[in-house]
Order: sequence, then structure tokens, then C-alpha cells
Amino acid sequence: MIALYLQRSIGVLLGWNEVAHLGSSHFIQVGSHVMGLAGLVLTTMGFILMGRERANARHQQQALLDPLTGVPNRRALMDALERALAQAGRERRPVALLMVDIDWFKRVNDTYGHLAGDAVLVAVAQCLRGGLRGQDFIGRYGGEEFLALLPGTDASGARMVAEHLRTRVEHLAMPWASETIRVTVSIGGHARIPDDAAGAQVMVDVADQAMYAAKRAGRNCVELLNAPLPQAAADSAVPV
Ligand code: GH3
Ligand code: MG
Ligand code: MG
Repeated sequence: MIALYLQRSIGVLLGWNEVAHLGSSHFIQVGSHVMGLAGLVLTTMGFILMGRERANARHQQQALLDPLTGVPNRRALMDALERALAQAGRERRPVALLMVDIDWFKRVNDTYGHLAGDAVLVAVAQCLRGGLRGQDFIGRYGGEEFLALLPGTDASGARMVAEHLRTRVEHLAMPWASETIRVTVSIGGHARIPDDAAGAQVMVDVADQAMYAAKRAGRNCVELLNAPLPQAAADSAVPV
């Protein structure tokens, strides 16, 4: 294509009429029309494909983020947990999960309105994320529940991180209109070296049971369980 255009330019400079004339049927003139058209079509297709690829990447990323808080959503959490469990299982290292639930959150909505509730969710998500280490992962598991994934963390480490997160939220002051909203969280934790008996959902369920134990213990506290409870026992659980 470059060679063809070079020949044509030289032809025009040297005054070859059959090359300089647009309607000429000289092979250089016809060739440059065809090449010009092909270049235009290929460039346009390139731009369209590039745009589509970027839109796909954006959609894929959005599908894994919670639109309100901007943190990963449940799907992304479960994917990350599956990966972390597989890796930790191979390395025989523990993984800890913390289920974090905002206390009396319905009252926030009822007292200050749903928009204030949304703002609290955003602030708590940022507060939790800011309290974790680089290798940890936090996402919104559902409504006012967040799940933190702590690779390489055993039960005592999980308790320390959970206490740190609980205190951070306790000290969080969120200005709303002329008032300041404060909330607390109840945190349930579960840590183990993954094995075939403990898949991602089992670990989440145990962390969830531990969180409910924290609610029963009075809220604004941390409880850890080291194994799933039978349903009957879950109602009167004695946390470890
Ligand atoms: P507990 O201490 O037992 O956890 O009490 P709670 O009030 O936090 O729990 P409950 O399950 O009774 O209420 C959760 C509330 O969270 C109810 C629901 O309307 C609210 N909620 C869930 N998702 C959102 C959201 O995206 N925005 C707002 N503003 N509220 C939400
Ligand atoms: Mg809840
Ligand atoms: Mg709650």
C-alpha cells in the first residue's frame, strides 16, 4: 500500500497525467482507490472492535462490583473465596472469613431516611476496606452485610482484625444534614485450613452463624466459631 502511494506521489510530481487524474484507469490510480477504501474499512472496523472490547471489559468489571458502595459484590466475593481456598488448601495455610453486619440498620433508614441509609452503607464499606491489609478482600455480601476474606489468617489473627474493624466502625461519625449518624457492627468469624469438607459456602455459613452469635451476645462485638453448628444448636450457640 505504501509502495503504491509512493509510486502515485512520484507520478503526480512528474506530471504523469494518467496517474494524476482521479478518473484514470491506470493501475496505480485504481490501486490507490482500492487501497484507500480498504484502509478506511479496516480502520473503521478496528475502532468498532476496540470500542466493543472496552465496553465488554467495563461490563465485566461492573458485573462484579456493588453499584452503591463500589466494593466487590457477592459473586466476586464467592469467586475470590473459591480461588483463595484452592490456593490455601495447596499451601496448607489458613483462610479466615469475617461476616460483618450493621447493627439496628433498619432504624437508620427509619430515622434518617433511605438515602441516609445508603450513605451509611458507602461510608461503612470504605471504613472496612481502609482497615484491611493489602492481601485481604472485602465485599458486600447482601443488604447491610459485608464479608471480609483474610488469606493466611488463623483464628487469633481473625479475631484481631475483626476487633480492629469493629472499633473503626464504632468511631465512624457520619454527618447527615445537621446531625451525626453513628453505627456499630456485629462480626462473626471463622478460620480454617481448607479441606474437602469445607467449601466456600460452608465457610460463609459458619461465619454467618458466628455473626448471629454476636447479635445474641449483645451486638457491637466479635464472635468466632470453629465449625458449623447443627441447626438446633445454632439458636443457642456458645461461641469459641
Ligand atoms: P440487626 O442488628 O439484627 O442486624 O438489625 P437490622 O435492623 O440491621 O437488621 P434487619 O435485617 O432488620 O434490617 C436490615 C435493613 O437493611 C432492612 C433493609 O431495608 C435495609 N437495607 C438493605 N439494603 C439496603 C440498601 O441498599 N439501602 C438502604 N438504605 N437500606 C438497605
Ligand atoms: Mg443483616
Ligand atoms: Mg443488621
